Amino acid sequence: MSLSVHRRPTDEDSSSIVTTTDSDAFQPLSAAELAQQRTLRSERSNNVYPNVKITKWISVCGKCHVCHWLYNREERFKGEKDLIAIEEFMTLHRTMIEQERAAYYERRDLAKRYPNVYMSLILDGMSQSHCQIPHNGNKLSSTYKATQHVQGAKQHFFSKSFYRTFSHVSTGTNLACHVLLCEIKARLQYCLDNDVEMPSILFLQVDGGCENTSNTFHALCEQLVRDGVFNEIQVNRLPVGHTHEDIDALFGVLWRGLQNKTLMTPQEWEEAALNCFRSCDEVLNCLIYLFI
Ligand SMILES: [Zn+2]
Repeated sequence: MSLSVHRRPTDEDSSSIVTTTDSDAFQPLSAAELAQQRTLRSERSNNVYPNVKITKWISVCGKCHVCHWLYNREERFKGEKDLIAIEEFMTLHRTMIEQERAAYYERRDLAKRYPNVYMSLILDGMSQSHCQIPHNGNKLSSTYKATQHVQGAKQHFFSKSFYRTFSHVSTGTNLACHVLLCEIKARLQYCLDNDVEMPSILFLQVDGGCENTSNTFHALCEQLVRDGVFNEIQVNRLPVGHTHEDIDALFGVLWRGLQNKTLMTPQEWEEAALNCFRSCDEVLNCLIYLFI
């Protein structure tokens, strides 16, 4: 039961109510006027509170224990000497991450310059919470949900694909292996159709998910080399908590397009997903259903 209490209006109240018949008073502001107001507000805030600084959002890693350790100490130690030492550690850590990332970009660049020698592939799964149906825009989620899994595969300078499965297909190493084989098959087919050489070295970029670090996944890579599909396969991953890469940007395009829509059926989801890529510079080569 809900109870609402309303105060009886008095004569004083009525005197403070502004009534107007001038329709211009409620005209929406133009974009230029809004921008001007925003600038004025920002300047006023800077003048009144010059000591308040809004720190730009930076990627604070929740999984990297080094980042966690350093942020924790930054909060506890306030002495200048301590803060300088922490900053030095942080710079060292970030430099190490950047070097790892630079090595990934080098491998990607090799695949661009020598496509007949190198193939560079990154695999990752989209966040589970972004793949539920029905999807009610930014409103409350439904009690009954159908889950689906979207596995992204980006062959640098070749193709971008999403592999979509529903809850009856378990996600794990089997799925990761299957997607890997599908990608290799697609490249092989392209090479046969266009009479070009199949790359002999595969650079495989994955994150630390258990499906990518299992013995089965590594055994498949070894078997591919043993069977002569590749001469060499390099499986790489960025340090824990710093694995955000170009495949996540692809998921970002998808999520930005889907998040405010109401999607009730898998078919609506598919149509909306494909539309996300029609209206932006990114190109999705295929959306593949897997019913393994
Ligand atoms: Zn870190």
